Amino acid sequence: MLLEQPRTPLALRDVPPPSPGEGQLRIRVKVCAVCRTDLHVVDGELPDPKLPLVVGHQIVGVDDRGRRVGVPWLGWTCGVCAYCRSGRENLCDRARFTGYTLDGGYAEVAVADERYCFELPDDYSDDEAAPLLCAGLIGFRAYRMAGEARRLGFYGFGSAAQIVAQIAAADGREVYAFTRDGDEAAQNFARRMGAAWAGGTSEAKPLDAAIIFAPAGELVVSALRNVVKGGSVVCAGIHMSDIPSFPYELLWGERVVRSVANLTRADGLALLERLRTLRVVTERTSYPLERANDALSALRSGELTGTAVLHV
Ligand SMILES: [Zn+2]
Ligand SMILES: [Zn+2]
Repeated sequence: MLLEQPRTPLALRDVPPPSPGEGQLRIRVKVCAVCRTDLHVVDGELPDPKLPLVVGHQIVGVDDRGRRVGVPWLGWTCGVCAYCRSGRENLCDRARFTGYTLDGGYAEVAVADERYCFELPDDYSDDEAAPLLCAGLIGFRAYRMAGEARRLGFYGFGSAAQIVAQIAAADGREVYAFTRDGDEAAQNFARRMGAAWAGGTSEAKPLDAAIIFAPAGELVVSALRNVVKGGSVVCAGIHMSDIPSFPYELLWGERVVRSVANLTRADGLALLERLRTLRVVTERTSYPLERANDALSALRSGELTGTAVLHV
């Protein structure tokens, strides 16, 4: 399913299968989970994608040696820049990203640098494992950035929040899920996934930290109103609408606003280690690969609960 131009639907095309370069695996794709970032790429909200492009960066497949592998968003880093050399390869100046600047997984075959692929836990099916690869990984990085918060707010409750809510609950945190006012379905979903409370984004609840999963800048201000002194507001998405101006008193008291960018391989290993003792469940909707546009539309409109997974 090719993106030929941003802001046009993906097109079903027969193209020559990619051949692996030095250090790359050839992977027969089984499933690829859909991420909101895919939507930002397709909708032209991220600059300079490879074109034409195979979108998709939560790939589960089988390599030429029969091993199951997971391919995440971080596809390549230079290893020599100041960020790479200081354990921050997520910020690498020359990083390449699966399904954005490298071809991804909305396809029958993908290639990926073996050094950035993950071995997946055996007790997760392909379908269960795919959402771990970005929703899980980058969600987990955002969760760790939120610090030792007992009362943790989530703004937007979708693919990443459903995974992180279970980890947070297992860590003894209280998750407060803020969704669109009146969105009973999303609020019920959040409660099923371990949220201690769920309600609308206009509601007031004291929080020690908040993670913004939805791409709406005004939620940063809503979260700052709820976060107590010394607390953090972590923006977990790659793209967000402009943040409206707000009075300095909302930031005063050593409140912090920060973003989380991409992932490091160490984040991936940390999450997978955590999942050895914690079994997370996800709600998923399956689509055949050729209906990728329908999956993206469902995510765009907000009608999707949980994660969409494309089956090849
Ligand atoms: Zn680098
Ligand atoms: Zn993603």
